[in-house]
Amino acid sequence: RALVTTNGSVMHVLSPENCPIDILDNERTINDFINDKIELGSVENEEPFYVADLDSIFKRHLKWLSNLPRVKPFYAVKCNNTEAVLRMMSALDTGFDCASKGEIQMALSLGVTPDKIIYAHTTKPLSHIKYACTHGVDMMTFDSEDELIKISLCHAKAKLVLRIAVDDSESMVRLSSKFGARLVSVGKLLERAGELGLEVIGVSFHVGSGCTGSLMFKKAIADARHVFDAANVLGFQMSLLDIGGGFSGREDFQVKFEEFSEVINGALDELFPPDSGVQIIAEPGRYYVESAFTLAANIIAKRVILNEVDEHSEDEENRPDRMMMYYLNDGVYGSLSCLINDAAHTTVEPYLNRAVESSEQRYQSVIWGPTCDSIDKVTDSCWVPELHVGDWLLIDNMGAYSVSISTDFNGFERAHIYPVVTAETWHFLNLSHTYNIY
Ligand code: PLP
Repeated sequence: RALVTTNGSVMHVLSPENCPIDILDNERTINDFINDKIELGSVENEEPFYVADLDSIFKRHLKWLSNLPRVKPFYAVKCNNTEAVLRMMSALDTGFDCASKGEIQMALSLGVTPDKIIYAHTTKPLSHIKYACTHGVDMMTFDSEDELIKISLCHAKAKLVLRIAVDDSESMVRLSSKFGARLVSVGKLLERAGELGLEVIGVSFHVGSGCTGSLMFKKAIADARHVFDAANVLGFQMSLLDIGGGFSGREDFQVKFEEFSEVINGALDELFPPDSGVQIIAEPGRYYVESAFTLAANIIAKRVILNEVDEHSEDEENRPDRMMMYYLNDGVYGSLSCLINDAAHTTVEPYLNRAVESSEQRYQSVIWGPTCDSIDKVTDSCWVPELHVGDWLLIDNMGAYSVSISTDFNGFERAHIYPVVTAETWHFLNLSHTYNIY
């Protein structure tokens, strides 16, 4: 199945007047772009930066369409709210999962229509619900009686989606301890929605971010089926199933996206077949952006730590007499908060933007972030050739929960973002609506 873009205003959405995007022509690669940026740099211009590869997002979208053809993605803005990313998603005609008034405002300001937005947060401030109401955003999630009461007070025409808690035990970031109604309380909640005259149109869940077990989706879809059946008995017209996020965006992830898709498609065909008339949506965040961003950070300081000489060690000749400490200008308070927020085993692998010869002496090195806090550590121990102040390190797969979480703690600037797209993809996106490529 080829890409379908129904959005006739791709040119407008992604046009350079709206949002600066560098177009890579003449076979220039992302690496060429990064090297040019680094070479043009000066002492005054050593700030960290990202390169956002919009082609990567485009390819992920094609992969989504071919693997999950029944599931319409509503991109989770919280994962990465870079304007060029949102414009790209809009050009690809996805929906948007917004978590607050601010995210709804952002989507609307780019020309996204309210029917393409789900306000997917179960604990909303009253004023944000009112904002959604006055701007025509009707679809929203809930998981408690108090939320139903708030919604009935200020958005009585809302189209409600009941979020249920599901097994998230195989995910890096678990969410069901905080959100989602338990199955035992679903009946009472639906009855209460009925008493308040509210319309419940569907069910949502989230198996947790960075899910490692495809069967979690199968179980959750079965749970959702139970809720659909209970709601149908109570007279609700249930028409929407939202299978949330949880899909990795890394090519090297332990479970392939194809495996998740196979399990999901099987469960959907069995429990929500196409003739059930139920629309299926999802809220992927990581999936789209994780591998699209590469971070470049500069070594701003260095300390050499001399090792104590052990005269009895047989290995003394080969053992370097020193270890290195490098201080980067980006760290856990900036782009790398994933090292703290994701599961404890999350690591990143910074690498040099040049080939390393096998003959080069390598030193055990600790890489720190720039702030005064000792938890601001990028890697505990890596073996790299000796580096110098002013050298650059690159880190791949930096697109998820990085730019949207970073702070300027200690006054260090947030990394600048350079979105790039190849001329080929650029032309395809701009022409696809004209030539109706199906
Ligand atoms: N939807 C909701 C309600 C979320 O809380 C999240 C992440 O926290 C997402 C979607 C996106 O999840 P992911 O990035 O794992 O796809």
